[in-house]
Amino acid sequence: MTAVAAKGETTSLDAVIIGAGISGMYMLHRLRGLGLKARVYEAGSDVGGTWFWNRYPGARVDIESQEYSYSFSEELEREWKWSERYAAQPEILRYLNHVADRFDLRPDIQFDTRIASAHFDEAAGRWTVRTEAGETIDAKFCIAATGCLSVPNEPNFKGQETFKGPTYHTGRWPHEGVDFTGKRVAVIGTGSSAIQSIPQIAKQASQVYVFQRTPNYSVPAHNAPIDTAVAQAWLANRDENRQLQKMSTAGFLFSNPREEMATQVGDNERRKVFEERWAQGGFAVGASFADLAVDPAANAMIAEFAAEKIREIVKDPKVAEKLTPKDYPFGTKRLCVDTGYYEVFNRDNVQLIDLKETPLDTITPTGVKTTGAEFEVDAIVFAIGFDAMTGALSKIDIQGRGGQTLNQAWAEGPKSYLGIMVAGFPNFFTITGPGSPSVLSNMIVSIEQHVDWLHDLLAFMGQYGLATIEASPESQTAWVEHVNEAASKTLYPYANSWYLGANVPGKPRVFMPYIGGVGAYRTLCDAVAANGYMGFKLRPAA
Ligand code: NAP
Repeated sequence: MTAVAAKGETTSLDAVIIGAGISGMYMLHRLRGLGLKARVYEAGSDVGGTWFWNRYPGARVDIESQEYSYSFSEELEREWKWSERYAAQPEILRYLNHVADRFDLRPDIQFDTRIASAHFDEAAGRWTVRTEAGETIDAKFCIAATGCLSVPNEPNFKGQETFKGPTYHTGRWPHEGVDFTGKRVAVIGTGSSAIQSIPQIAKQASQVYVFQRTPNYSVPAHNAPIDTAVAQAWLANRDENRQLQKMSTAGFLFSNPREEMATQVGDNERRKVFEERWAQGGFAVGASFADLAVDPAANAMIAEFAAEKIREIVKDPKVAEKLTPKDYPFGTKRLCVDTGYYEVFNRDNVQLIDLKETPLDTITPTGVKTTGAEFEVDAIVFAIGFDAMTGALSKIDIQGRGGQTLNQAWAEGPKSYLGIMVAGFPNFFTITGPGSPSVLSNMIVSIEQHVDWLHDLLAFMGQYGLATIEASPESQTAWVEHVNEAASKTLYPYANSWYLGANVPGKPRVFMPYIGGVGAYRTLCDAVAANGYMGFKLRPAA
């Protein structure tokens, strides 16, 4: 256990880990295994990261529970029993607390501590990290486990400060919960968080107004208590399943696209596959055919299938029409997975307001005014998303060689080598950083891959007495080009998505995650390591 330093004192560590979410916890566990002195600094008051903050009603994972869990400990996997096919936030948070206790992680996690700055001291070859409370930490390695969706997109609506009732952001939900019984509620936004929370809010509220700027595609989860036979089958083939995940397209078993092309099979066959995958629930439908994400004609077929489903469920044809996305390809904004989302618009107490038709004008003391009407409400829920992938890092004053800040280095959008290091920032690592598969995958699988890779790297550096590692500018340039090229072969750039930073005004428009696939990316990272960390500069101790 590392003692907490008082203000003005310096703690000396091998590694600082920023964030006690899924990645920070596992990183700590692995570094302890190397005998390194590591400590996690966490802004929240407990572990869990995204699952600590996102407590809105209806929050649940949309990868199947047994797939969205750590794989590093078989014992852990066998002793933890998930109750639902898609676990809800409280259960996932219980699981992460269990992991923290089981591996005795808490003594090396400092809660309620936000990191303000991290500066690389070139002479010492070490990082000087400062907390907002004034504590200084001196460490050889600085590891950002800060998450991809951890900084809420702050509401910035005209007149919002005049609103008399309570407002909530889905990404910072009150721990004690919110009772909407009998209340009139405005929900602004229709991304995953809104799509999960609206059906729950509508069960309590007297009236829900849903303010939609862009409709999203959503697939039913078909959530249910976990089928015992399915859970047993998963465990019986655990090693094989975990290997399949690791080498898959997006880190879960049904993410590998089928080999057939939607445009090359007959209408009946195509429909049969779409129906089967839709009935299966979740993301599987997005991998129905190999060409959905790359060929506009194939994409139009799945888009029309999804539109039909919306029309089947939503009784009012005008509402169904408004809920149907029209101006971007299917799946190029993060697909949502829902429980009763489209159905909720058949309720008398739910009204959809299309902000493309009547833009949001102002928030008044008593409600939300569009150019068409004013809606009186008692509470407002902002489900407006996050400053994704770069948000958390941009809020820390990170300085590498020559005092260059990370924000300067990323002024034109994030640049990295393999999504894990940035040229000019030695011994600084970004777990699931921009330029890695991260948000396009099952996050736990990608987190474990990065952490394991980093563990091996730090072991290697220890073994050979190396002081620093740094991405070379050339390898970074080549990787950034590769990441862009991979995205440009798909339809993803055609959507104004948070993958491109399009949801944050002024953010450079760059496709941030790597779309080459989890398995291919892992193979590449392993090859880089096997070749003496090709593309990185390693320096011995002076
Ligand atoms: P999001 O997908 O970015 O959705 C934000 C919504 O707010 C969008 O509909 C957006 O409209 C709207 N919006 C933003 N600013 C607005 C404004 N000024 N006026 C009107 N509308 C505005 O955010 P999210 O729903 O929180 O989800 C973010 C990501 O978190 C997801 O894509 C997913 O990766 C992750 N997530 C995962 C889960 C899960 O795994 N279960 C659950 C929730 C979230 P536009 O589309 O027009 O910008």
